[in-house]
Amino acid sequence: MTNTDKIILITGASSGIGAATARRLAGDGHHVVAGARRKDRLDELTRRIHADGGSAEAAELDVTDPSAMTAVVEAVLSRHGRLDVLVANAGVMLLSRLGALLVPEWDRMLDVNVRGLLHGVAAALPVFERQGSGHLVTVASVGAHEVVPTSAVYSATKFAAWAITEGLRQEARPGIRVTTVSPGVTDSELADHITDRYAQEAMRAYRAAVISADSIAAAISYAIGQPPDVDVNEIVIRPAGQRPPS
Ligand code: NDP
Repeated sequence: MTNTDKIILITGASSGIGAATARRLAGDGHHVVAGARRKDRLDELTRRIHADGGSAEAAELDVTDPSAMTAVVEAVLSRHGRLDVLVANAGVMLLSRLGALLVPEWDRMLDVNVRGLLHGVAAALPVFERQGSGHLVTVASVGAHEVVPTSAVYSATKFAAWAITEGLRQEARPGIRVTTVSPGVTDSELADHITDRYAQEAMRAYRAAVISADSIAAAISYAIGQPPDVDVNEIVIRPAGQRPPS
């Protein structure tokens, strides 16, 4: 295996950062398995990658279902014999003040952002250990480093994602690499799912200055492209001049 022909599974690849990362990594010469729930979007993505000369396949996947996550990893192993990188990117950001008591949305963020990541670790880590190599790239957030009004639960899930990934770094055997990528405001569908009117309003000004999902994909590409003895542990990448929402 060279540094440009890895087998890479990306969760949340149907839009935004995940889709941009799939295109970038396929362009780098890797084989990409693009996972998410919206299979039509994944099929369109893989068509586009093939048209550009890249190698990719779509995998319908709900990361909240641990058996689905394991099944996708097993399918990757049976088709390709190995899994080199898991980009754990699937996430939701349903911002609201705690007093809005949107308990089902808190649960959704915990299910996707925390349990979904853990299901990825549970599926991929045994493979990485058997291989003696592997790379977990977790897409966390600047929300893993700061809390602002409306972000308490989202930030809690991203603090957790940071902690899980850092814990794996400390525990993992040599040969297994671990990267947390923490984006600031990035152009994607992420904020479209916010239902709380106060949070929608707060986000309007905050998200006026964005960087492209391709910028995050480039950071992920950089981490993956390093030689095997170089472990890029964390990248925080924001729009220039970004400040917390006021
Ligand atoms: P998008 O909403 O565009 O993408 C989110 C992706 O997650 C989609 O592909 C969606 O696919 C997938 N997803 C959601 N729920 C599930 C699920 N249950 N199972 C599998 N996939 C799921 O937003 P982004 O690209 O911005 O988000 C990607 C990551 O980046 C997230 O973890 C987010 O928290 C993080 N991030 C984003 C920032 C930003 O400003 N955009 C800033 C900081 C971090 P589908 O619905 O088809 O399943």
